[in-house]
Amino acid sequence: MTFPTTSPQVSEIENNRAWHNLTGEQTLEILRTNGETGLNEAEIVKRKDIFGLNELKETGGRSPLMILWEQFTNIMLVMLIAVAVVSAVLDLKKAEFPKDAIAIFTIVILNGILGYLQESRAEKALAALKQLSSPKVRVIRNGSTFEVAAKELVPGDIMLLEAGVQIAADGRLLEAQNLQIREAALTGEAVSVNKQAQKVLPEDASLGDRINLVYQGTEVVQGRGKVAITKTGMDTEIGKIAAMLQGVESEPTPLQQRMSQLGNVLVSGSLALVAVVVLGGVIRFGWQFFESLLETSLSMAVAVVPEGLPAVVTVTLAIGTQRMVRRQALIRKLPAVETLGSVTTICSDKTGTLTQNKMVVQKVNTSHHVITVTGEGYAPIGEFNGVSESDPELQAILTACVLCNDALLQNKAQEWSILGDPTEGALLTLAGKGGLYREALEPKSPRLGEFPFSSERKRMSVICENAQLGLGDSTYLMFTKGSPELILERCSLIQVGAESQPLTDEQRSRILAQNDEMAGNGLRVLGFSYKPITEVPEAEREDSEEQSLVWLGLVGMLDAPRKEVKEAVALCRQAGIRPIMITGDHQLTAKAIAGELGIAAAGERVITGKELEKMSQNDLEGEVDGVSVYARVSPEHKLRIVQALQKRGKFVAMTGDGVNDAPALKQADIGIAMGITGTDVSKEASDMILLDDNFATIVAATEEGRVVYSNIRRFIKYILGSNIGEVLTIAAAPLIGMGGVPLTPLQILWMNLVTDGLPALALAMEPAEPNVMKRPPFSPRESIFARGLGWYMIRIGIVFAILTIIMMYWAYQYTQATPEIGDPGRWKTMVFTTLCLAQMGHALAVRSHTQLAVQMNPFSNPYIIVAVGLTTILQLLLIYAPPLQNFFGTQWISGTELLICFGFSALMFVWIELEKLFIRWFMTKK
Ligand code: ATP
Repeated sequence: MTFPTTSPQVSEIENNRAWHNLTGEQTLEILRTNGETGLNEAEIVKRKDIFGLNELKETGGRSPLMILWEQFTNIMLVMLIAVAVVSAVLDLKKAEFPKDAIAIFTIVILNGILGYLQESRAEKALAALKQLSSPKVRVIRNGSTFEVAAKELVPGDIMLLEAGVQIAADGRLLEAQNLQIREAALTGEAVSVNKQAQKVLPEDASLGDRINLVYQGTEVVQGRGKVAITKTGMDTEIGKIAAMLQGVESEPTPLQQRMSQLGNVLVSGSLALVAVVVLGGVIRFGWQFFESLLETSLSMAVAVVPEGLPAVVTVTLAIGTQRMVRRQALIRKLPAVETLGSVTTICSDKTGTLTQNKMVVQKVNTSHHVITVTGEGYAPIGEFNGVSESDPELQAILTACVLCNDALLQNKAQEWSILGDPTEGALLTLAGKGGLYREALEPKSPRLGEFPFSSERKRMSVICENAQLGLGDSTYLMFTKGSPELILERCSLIQVGAESQPLTDEQRSRILAQNDEMAGNGLRVLGFSYKPITEVPEAEREDSEEQSLVWLGLVGMLDAPRKEVKEAVALCRQAGIRPIMITGDHQLTAKAIAGELGIAAAGERVITGKELEKMSQNDLEGEVDGVSVYARVSPEHKLRIVQALQKRGKFVAMTGDGVNDAPALKQADIGIAMGITGTDVSKEASDMILLDDNFATIVAATEEGRVVYSNIRRFIKYILGSNIGEVLTIAAAPLIGMGGVPLTPLQILWMNLVTDGLPALALAMEPAEPNVMKRPPFSPRESIFARGLGWYMIRIGIVFAILTIIMMYWAYQYTQATPEIGDPGRWKTMVFTTLCLAQMGHALAVRSHTQLAVQMNPFSNPYIIVAVGLTTILQLLLIYAPPLQNFFGTQWISGTELLICFGFSALMFVWIELEKLFIRWFMTKK
C-alpha cells in the first residue's frame, strides 16, 4: 500500500481553483492523496498543521460587548439608574453625601457584571453542548474506514457519504451512486441535486451547476458517494459566506419572555405608583412634603421590582440543561427545558429506542428449509440447525446478505463489532456463520450500481457482477432485500435448490404465513430476492427494475426490548403521559413488542401506513386518541400523526432519526433526535438529542422538566410575595404616622438581590418532589400564576405586611420612648431585619406546599440551609459591623430587640405551616 508522503502547498489548494473542471484523478494528484487508501497518520498531522482544524469561526454569536450592553438596557436596571439619579439630586440638595445613589450605581454595575458573567458562561456551556452534538464523519485513512469528528478533516481526506449525512467539508466526488444532495443551505434551492462523479464541467459553471462537487453544510438525501476533500474550515463555500449553520439556539424561553413582560408591567406599575403617591401627597399636603413623598415613592418603586428574578430564572434553566445532560438528554433549544414537563404524549420509534438495536438472526426460511440459527452478538460463531451449511438455498440467501449490505463487520482486539446499521450488521454475522465474508465475495463480484434503502421504499437493491455465485450465468445479478410483503409482491419466481421456478399462490400464502408467525413472535423480518440481468440499469429505473424477482427466503432477527423501557412506560402512565410506538416495521412485530413493553394492550387496534394513507386527516384525528401502535409507516405519516395529536390538544414529543423525519420533528412540540443512530439532518431539526437513543431517557428528561418548572414557580412565589410585603409596609409607614421612610432604596436592593436572591437560587436546586411523576402534566399554556400561585403571592404578601406593620408600629413607639438604649431611628433597622428574617422562614416553608418543614429532610436540599444560614449572618453583620452599618445606614439594636425581630419573623413561618395544615384538613374533608 502506498501513501502520499508530500503535502500540497496552501497555494496549490488556493481558494478559487476550479475543482469542477478537473477529473477525479487530477484532483487526487493535486491533493496528493489516494482514493482507495486515503492519507496516513503522519500526513494527516502535517496537514492539520498547515490547514488548521475544519471549523467555522463563529460569527453568529453575540460579542462580549453586546452581551454587556444588553445587561444595562434591561428595563429594571434602567429604572434603578433613574432612581439613583433622583436620589443623588435630593441628597446633593440637602448637601448630603449621595451615598444611596452611589450604592445603587454600584449595585447596578455589579448586577450588570454578574449578569454578563452568567450569560457568557451560559453561552460557553451551550458551545460545549454543541461540541457534544457535533457530527462524525466516515473517512478512509491508512487503508481502513474510520469515524472521525468533523473538525479533524483535512484536505486530501477521502470522505464517505450516505443518506442523512450533513457534509462536513467541500470536496470533489470520486464516486456517486444515486447521490441526491439538498443544497438549500447554500443555494436556497429546496429541490435536491443529482450529483455525478464522472462529469468534468466547464470552468464557468455556477455553484448550483457543479454537480461533481459537494459542499459543506449541505445534506445527503439519498444514495452514497466518495469524496476527496478539497477545502476545509473557513475556506469552504459556506465558510466564505461565514454562515453559522449548526448550533445550539439560545432563544429566550416562553418563561423568560413572560418574565421580561412581567418586568415591564412591574416597572410601569411602580412608576404609576410613584406618580400617585407624589401627586396625591402634593394635592393633600402641599409642596412642603414633596421631598419626603418623593423618597417614599422611590423606595416603593425599588421595592416592587424583583431585581433578582431574571438571574435566578436563567440559572435555573442552565441547571436544568445540566441535569438533563447528566441523564443523557442534550437540550438544543432552551425552551424545551421548561416545556418538557408538559408533554402529554411521547411518540417513539421502535428500533433502537424501545429496543436495544442489537440484532441477532434467529430464523432463516427458504423454500425447503426452516432453519434455526444459534449464536449471540455479532460474533460469526453459530450453527444452522436443520440444514447443511453448503445447501444451495442457504448459500444463495447468505450471498444476498453479504452483497446487498452497506455495513462492515470488524474484529478488533478479539471483539466483533459492526460499523453501520445493526440490521445489516446482523446479516453479515449470519453470513459469517456460513463461511461467507464480504472480503472474499466483493472482489469477485464488485458492486456496479444500487437503488439505496429509504424508510419510504423499505427495501434496497444492489447490482453486482455475477462471478460463480451459483445463481445462473447472467452477466450481472441484482439482489433486493426489504420488507417481506413488499419484496414478495415483486417476485414471480422462487429459488428451489439451485434452480428458479415459478412462484405459486400456495407458496406465496405459505411465505406470508411464515412471515406473520415470525413477526408475531416479535422478530424483525426481512425478505430476500435476486434477479439475473444483462445490463446495469440507470438510477431512475428502480421501480421498473425491481420487478419479476426470484424469491430467496426470509430472515428473522431478534431485537430485544431495552430492559429499562418497561419501567419507563409504566412511569409514563402514572405521570399521565401516553407512549405511542410509530415504526416502519411489520404490524405483528410492532404489536408483539408493544405488548411486551405495556405500550398497547392485547387486541388494541394497530394502524398501518397503508390504512393511514386511505384515511383523511379528519378520520385520523378521530382515531388518534385510541391508537398506540402505528406500523409500516413512512416518515411523512409521522407528520400527519403529530398534527392530528396536536389538533386533539396534545403536547407531543416525537422521536426521529432519518432525513425525512425532520418535518415531523419540527412540527412536534418537542422534536427528539437520536444521538447515536440519528442523521445530522434530524439532529439539526430537533429540540433535544438522546445521547443514548433510549426511550427511558425521554421520560427522565420529562421528569427533570417538571422539576425545573415547579422550582421556577416555587421561587417566583417566594420572591414576589416578599416584594408585595415590602411595598405595603413602606406605603403604610406614613399612613400610620411614622416619621420617615422605614427602608432606604439601598436596603431594599439588598433584600431583593441578596436576602431574597440567595435562598431563591437555593430553591432552584430543590430535588424532585416524590409525586412529580404521579400527577398529570400541566398545560404549557397555563399562566405562571395559575393554580393558586397569584393568590398565594397576594395572600402571603399581605400577611407579611400585616406582621411587619404591627411590629413597626410597636417598635416606633418603643424606640422613641427609650432613647437611652440606642438611636431613636433604630425602629427602621428593626423593620428591615424583620422583613429579611421573615423571608428566611418563608424559604424553609415554601419548599413544599403540603409537607410541613419539619417533615422534610433538611439535607435533601442542603443549599437552602447554607443560603438561609449565610444570609442571616450577613444581615447581622449589616447591623453590627460598623463599616457595613455605616454604608447601609442601619442602627445598632439591642439583643432583646433583635429577639423581637426574630419572634415576629418566626410568625410568618408559623402562618405558612398553619396554612398547610388547614389545606390538608380541607382536602381530607372533601
Ligand atoms: P423504526 O421506525 O421503529 O426505527 P424500522 O427500523 O423498522 O423501525 P425503518 O428503518 O424505516 O424502520 O425500516 C422500515 C422497514 O424497512 C423495516 O421494517 C424493514 O422491513 C426494512 N428495512 C430496514 N432496514 C433495511 C435495510 N437495511 N435494507 C433493506 N430493508 C430494510
